[in-house]
Amino acid sequence: MDTNNFRKGLSYDDVLLVPKYSDIKSRSEIDISVDLGKTLQLEFPILASPMDTISETQMAIALDKVGGAAVIHRYNSIDEQAEIIAKAVKKLKDNVGAAVGITGDYLERATAAFNAGATFICVDVAHGHHVMMKTALQRLRVMLGSDYHIMAGNVATLQAVNDLADWGADSVRCNIGGGSICSTRIQTGHGVPGLQTIIDCAQTDRDVKIIADGGIKNSGDIVKAIAAGADAVMCGSLFAATKESPGEIITDNRGNKWKTYRGMASKEAQVDWKGKYSSFEGVSTRVPYRGEMNEILDNLERGIRSGYSYSGARSAAELQAKADIMVQTSAGQHESNTHINQRSW
Ligand code: IMP
Repeated sequence: MDTNNFRKGLSYDDVLLVPKYSDIKSRSEIDISVDLGKTLQLEFPILASPMDTISETQMAIALDKVGGAAVIHRYNSIDEQAEIIAKAVKKLKDNVGAAVGITGDYLERATAAFNAGATFICVDVAHGHHVMMKTALQRLRVMLGSDYHIMAGNVATLQAVNDLADWGADSVRCNIGGGSICSTRIQTGHGVPGLQTIIDCAQTDRDVKIIADGGIKNSGDIVKAIAAGADAVMCGSLFAATKESPGEIITDNRGNKWKTYRGMASKEAQVDWKGKYSSFEGVSTRVPYRGEMNEILDNLERGIRSGYSYSGARSAAELQAKADIMVQTSAGQHESNTHINQRSW
């Protein structure tokens, strides 16, 4: 048994960044762009998750417009995925990714996505620190060449990041079990809290970028993830139930609008995708409809730039160097949320 001294793992809400002296006069002085390596440079360090209720053509266009990127999901036929990518590419200015698995037709899928114009591939499995990931990464690297960006995941440890980098990954999605629709930790007892995952994984000495994936609830969490060492973040729920997310708007009998958001390992997603379900590690839910992505992305960008400026940082590197991460008590967490209604006057 590895008790690892029963060490504690921190999640985003456990911490705050201590404000620092700032000489930044305008948020436009702050550079939030990131070079994830090879074919993947982002002006805006945000990726949309490869999920069938998040990333198809419209989401790819919305993210690309602001300098981020969506990863087109793989829960479709090879031709369908290639068509989604090709449609996005016609309007697109920079990046769109394509998810592939590690079994079956993944090499054909990657070839079709590449030919359709995908600018990076994401090897997308629930437990990425796996012998089959090793084989898949090595084959994809040979097939796609040394200059093409390959993202892989998910993992939760430094050892896993190092191994995936050694097997050929340029960036690694870090977090097991932290997604808003995820039940992996409940079903399997495994995982590492989200911020701790980033703190641990960012210790890598390999030439690999860290993507904080899952459990990101707001721009404050994005700033915390980058301060802890992430190069970019990946989001699902933040972009769920928007005009650009796939799926129909559901109007209930009170006139409220909703859209479905579901984990790709939920029963519902598995049944739609392969006609049956096996072990399930996610849920399917309805989320209130939230309108267009451009407003959500604008708010996130303003929050991120403001966050950098509270640390007096003009870049991610400066933010990471200056970040003073303080653990807050439960009273501190309560105080950090708006709490006007709970006060007794
Ligand atoms: P969110 O941004 O907190 O909603 O988390 C989205 C992330 O959850 C995705 O990028 C995946 O890493 C992860 N994820 C997607 N579907 C599932 C699932 O069914 N089970 C566990 N994790 C999932």
